[in-house]
Amino acid sequence: MRHSRLTIASFGKATGTFSSGDNITKVDISNSLYGWFDGVRTIYISDSMTNESAAVTLYHEYQHYGGSDEISARIAAEEFAISMGWPETRPGYRGQDGSPDIGAIVRDVHRKSPYGELIGVQFPEGTRIRLPGRPPVNPVIPPPTP
Ligand SMILES: [Zn+2]
Repeated sequence: MRHSRLTIASFGKATGTFSSGDNITKVDISNSLYGWFDGVRTIYISDSMTNESAAVTLYHEYQHYGGSDEISARIAAEEFAISMGWPETRPGYRGQDGSPDIGAIVRDVHRKSPYGELIGVQFPEGTRIRLPGRPPVNPVIPPPTP
């Protein structure tokens, strides 16, 4: 069996760990987190988005898998959404000319959470398994009977 390089998981619940000075705060971020790359081999995607937003989020997290920082990943995801003819990934992320508004994206990334910097995300046990599941589609079409 081939070794899987990336696992894609969907999540409903997520807890963020924030750091501010000496304070560590854990907060339920289920409704604000779109996706997360664990830095190793799993990309988590929120199960409460439209299919297009889930695709853009996967594209964004895949940029992190390739080593991109947050600003670069958001710009790449916005360009991806533009190439697909989809709406902006977040309000204000697109300029008047329809291209990514780099300044707005940079400002948004640098905007501080009241809890500090997000340094980790925890998902409940079983998050990796997406249920109800569906087996992979079998691409083999039987030959027509003579
Ligand atoms: Zn990111």
